[in-house]
Formats: sequence, structure tokens, C-alpha cells
Amino acid sequence: MVEKHPIRLLSAEVANKIAAGEVVERPASVFKELLENSIDAGASHIEAVAVAGGCRLIGVTDDGAGMNRDDALLAIERHATSKIRDVADIEHIATLGFRGEALAAIAAVSRFRLQSCERGSMVGTEVLISGGRIHDVREVGCPSGTVVEVRDLFHNVPARRKFLRSAATEMAHVRQMFIVHALAHPRIAMRLTLDGREAWRLPGDARVEDRIRDLLGEEYLRQLLPVRFQSSEVALHGYVGVPSMARGDSNEQFIFINGRPASAPILHRAIREGYHSLLANGRQPVLFLFVEVDPALVDVNVHPAKREVRFRHPGEMRDAAIAAIRQALARAPSPAAVPAALGLAMPAAAAEQPRLFHIENLPATRAFRYPRLPLDATGRPPVPLTADSTTVAGGGAPDERQPVKQDESRADTETPASPWTVCRVVGQIGGLYVLLETDDGYVIMDPHAAHERVLYERFMRQYLQGQVPTQGLLVPETVELMPRDALQVRRNLDLLRKMGFSIAEFGGDAFLIDAMPAFFPDVTLRTLLADMAQHLEDTGDRGTKVRVREEAIAKAACKAAVKARDNLELTEMEQLVVDLASAEMPYTCPHGRPTLLFTSFRELRRKFGRE
Ligand code: ADP
Ligand code: MG
Repeated sequence: MVEKHPIRLLSAEVANKIAAGEVVERPASVFKELLENSIDAGASHIEAVAVAGGCRLIGVTDDGAGMNRDDALLAIERHATSKIRDVADIEHIATLGFRGEALAAIAAVSRFRLQSCERGSMVGTEVLISGGRIHDVREVGCPSGTVVEVRDLFHNVPARRKFLRSAATEMAHVRQMFIVHALAHPRIAMRLTLDGREAWRLPGDARVEDRIRDLLGEEYLRQLLPVRFQSSEVALHGYVGVPSMARGDSNEQFIFINGRPASAPILHRAIREGYHSLLANGRQPVLFLFVEVDPALVDVNVHPAKREVRFRHPGEMRDAAIAAIRQALARAPSPAAVPAALGLAMPAAAAEQPRLFHIENLPATRAFRYPRLPLDATGRPPVPLTADSTTVAGGGAPDERQPVKQDESRADTETPASPWTVCRVVGQIGGLYVLLETDDGYVIMDPHAAHERVLYERFMRQYLQGQVPTQGLLVPETVELMPRDALQVRRNLDLLRKMGFSIAEFGGDAFLIDAMPAFFPDVTLRTLLADMAQHLEDTGDRGTKVRVREEAIAKAACKAAVKARDNLELTEMEQLVVDLASAEMPYTCPHGRPTLLFTSFRELRRKFGRE
């Protein structure tokens, strides 16, 4: 990598074969290109600065190979690169860059300063460009290495500037970019200064684990399991998180392919498969996966920002990734860290005799009339449920009442009596679903969705009455969040406090928490905050309304608090039915998924041709 090649203009033939695309979307993408150039130049120290989220200034200084005057001038031309020469080179790219486009593209939309000095040379060159036009080129005295400063990004492209978000949001992206590259290259000492304050100073010659500790904390590192795997074609190393760290999105999956932060759909499928049943539906594990494979077996020329790669032998890659993850999980220090391996848990209630029990004191108006709703001839769930669940998922509280009203009106005309006065828990099927027999049919309940609904209503009721019981933590916890999550938490600190969290900023993206709602006894605080942040982010523009944000927080919390356990005691199942029966809106979970599916005996009789 450090071996020096001349910079050349690519021939039209080569240039046309490169997956071109706009590489400059926002300050963080400029930052990415500059970091990659410094890494490709063999730097052992990189100093980065950003001001106002990078909108005012992004600067990267390295002690890499540097450029002489001619190279510095050529570097800012389109399709000028020292990294490939001919079409054949595209087949085995070992550098991060290769298109020769970034500096030209960046210099065209900013006030740009490049200063570079080749190793061993006494004088360096400074090039000043604004909006793509060279303003000045001169000799300067400077240490060997390169400085690139990008000011006022998009100053000459108002249409693009409009798409920039707040400085805080852009800054979160810059921080994220720094984290990704710092993880990818622990060998390089790296420093980041944001708005004049040092955000991170990371020593060089480090290991991946040192980087994880420096960026995310000791506690975080402790929950990771090492990966070490080698097959004839690929080597994998890094860390995977215990299942309890999993979150609702893939924001904490760091995948590096030959040192390049990138991913491939095949790897995502392999990761899911590697964890198999250890994760609840929709949860994604935390992981830091370094894939080393012969560059000739990877195509990095797929995506303009090189975020995605393709493997020439996807099957082998997939098998290797699954095996690597499974081996790592199998090495978990305690069985508690990785519960009930791969779905082999025995039903706890097996020995108990199912019994009939009565549901008493149900308010007559909402005593589970939904199951009485006529299913259509195909046996599909009633239309209003599906239609309304979508609204519920997207729309928040006001919509949630609608299905009840509709159900009631229908139920009233069709079947006045509640079928739920008596019900019997038959047991669990599919290792999860609770099968209930009522006097009028059978019900399949998703216990996770049901539990989520019950928790959510309890929590919201207590919150709206201003009575959320809080619980002090024995030891206050410092939690280091990913930049985007931190941004959301920071913006909603007041709300979180109102909702029972005693939380304070602790510098950078860290927060100190010393009390939380007593409601969620078993959840990992960090996962809880990350999930809340994700839900808050998902509210998008609707998030300007306090109620929408309150609900996002509560939904995330309740989802996180739901028992991950699939097998339930009989009494637990019964309790859940009773609790759900007294919920305002028992038919869907707060996210809009159904909690219950009802089939009437009448429907069965019809299907069996008995009627
Ligand atoms: P690419 O990285 O795809 O080659 P760039 O436009 O990012 O294209 O850079 C063009 C060329 O400028 C690189 O190939 C490299 O030779 C040179 N260059 C850019 N940044 C640096 C740096 N920090 N140190 C040394 N050389 C650099
Ligand atoms: Mg580059």
C-alpha cells in the first residue's frame, strides 16, 4: 500500500468501467474520502477536524507518502489516480480508493486547500481551489505528508446545501465515520477534534479490542465474544455481541472486507443464520467482523460509495461466516450469556395440567369482542384489523381507538355475548404461540406481542398520570452510544427525564444514568436507549409532536422489556390472557402487529363440511 506509484489519468476505457456515482453527499462523505486517501498513503498518524458538523470545515492531516508538485496538481483532476492503471487492475484492488474521482469532486463544490510534501523532500506544494477553479499554487515549507481542508461545502451548489441537515446531525455522521475507520485501522493513531474540542485521541499500534474499548467502553467490550475462523479461502476475525446486546437495526454491525468498511447482502443473511433462534424477531446482533479474502475474489466495484461488495464465491463466504459466528457463540463464557441454545428449550409447562379458568370482572364493553368478528370465507383475519394495524403502526395514539369502535359495532350486531368468559390454555405451539380454547373457537396468541401491549398500556397510563415509579440504580451507569443514537437521546433528554429516567450528558456520546422507570427491570440500559433512539429517529417529521415522541419512547421500552423467553409457565400464560383482556386495545401490539388470531368453531365446522 505504501509502495508509491505515479498518479496518472485513467484512460477513457478504464474510467468507463468504474461504477461511477456522486461520492459527495454530505460532510461525512467528504470525511470518508479524505480518511481513505490518508490510509492508502500509508499514514501512521491521522488528525481530523470538523467545524459545524463539517459544513464549515473538514480537515484531514496525515504523515503518509505525500505528493510532489506535479502529483498534487494531477490528484485533483477527474480520473487521476495512482492506484490502478488498467482494466485488469480493477480485478484485484487492494487500496480503498481507485477511481480517482474524490478530490476532483470535492474541490468542485467547496473551498479546497491541498498541501502536500513528499517524504524526503524539503518543500511542499499548496494548491488552493474554489468551486473547481485553481486559485493559487505555491511552494510551502511543511512536514512530509498531506493536509486537505474542505471549507464551506456546497457553497456554490445551493440545491445540495439545502439537503444538509442540522449541524448536530451532520456531526453525528462525521463521528460515525471516524468510528468506522478507527475500528478498521487500529494500527493508525487517530485524533478527531470537533468544534475545537477533542472528541477522541486514539493511540496507534493498537488492536481491534483496544479500539472498541477506547470508542465504546470496557463494559461494552466485555459482552463481546471473539471470532477466529480460517478456511481455505477466507479468514474471519473480530467480535460478536451476546444476544442481549442485539438491537432493532444494524447500526452496530461493523463489517470490514479486506480493511474496507463494506458489506454484502450474503453476509447479512449469514449473520442472521449464525445467530439463528438466539435473537428475537427483527433483532440484529452487534458485531465487528473482519473478513480477509484474496482481493481477486471480491468485487469492490459495485457501489459508487464502495459500501457494498460482491464475492466471487458467495456460498463459501456464507458458510464461513455462519461457522465463524456459531463457533464464537458456542464459546460464550456462561450459558446465561447465550440462553437456550438454538431453540431446544423444553416447554416448562409440560408437566402441569391445563385447566379451565374464568376471566372475571372484565368490563363488558371491551371484553374481547374481536374474536367474534366474522372471518371472511377464506379464513383470513377480518379486514379492519389489517387495515387499522397499518394505521396504528404509522400513526400513534388517536388511531388506536378506531379498531375498537369498529369491532364493537360489529360485535354488537352479531354476537352480544363475550366468548371470553371461559377460556382454557391448551399450551404452546411452534415453541412460542399460545393456543387458547374458548367456548366459541380457538385463539392463537403471540405472547411477545401480547406482553408488549400490556406493558405499554400500563406504562403510558402511569406516565400520563405522572406516576411512573422510578428505581435508582445501585451503581450509576455510563453508557456510550453510537453517534446517531446519542443525537436522538440528547434531543429528548427532558422527555426521558419526565418518563422516569435520571439521565445526564457525560461528554461526547456518553450519558450517565442513575435511575430509570421501575418498569423495565431486566433490560440492558444501553440496548434500551439505543432502541428508544431508533424509534425516535423513525418518527421522522412526526417527531416534532411531544406525544409522538412519548409513544416512541414507551413503545421501544416495552418492546425491550418483553420477555425474550419463548416458553412460559401455565400461570404466566393465564395471567397474560387476563392482562390482555383488560387492555384498552388488546388486538395489536403497540407496533401494530396482531396479538391474537381467532378461528371460530363455526368456521371449523364449515371448513370440515359439517355445516
Ligand atoms: P483515488 O483515491 O480513487 O485514487 P482521489 O481523488 O481520492 O482518487 O485521489 C487521487 C490521487 O491523489 C490518489 O490516487 C493519490 O495518489 C493522491 N492522494 C490523494 N490524497 C492523498 C494523500 N492524503 N496522500 C498522498 N496521496 C494522496
Ligand atoms: Mg480517494
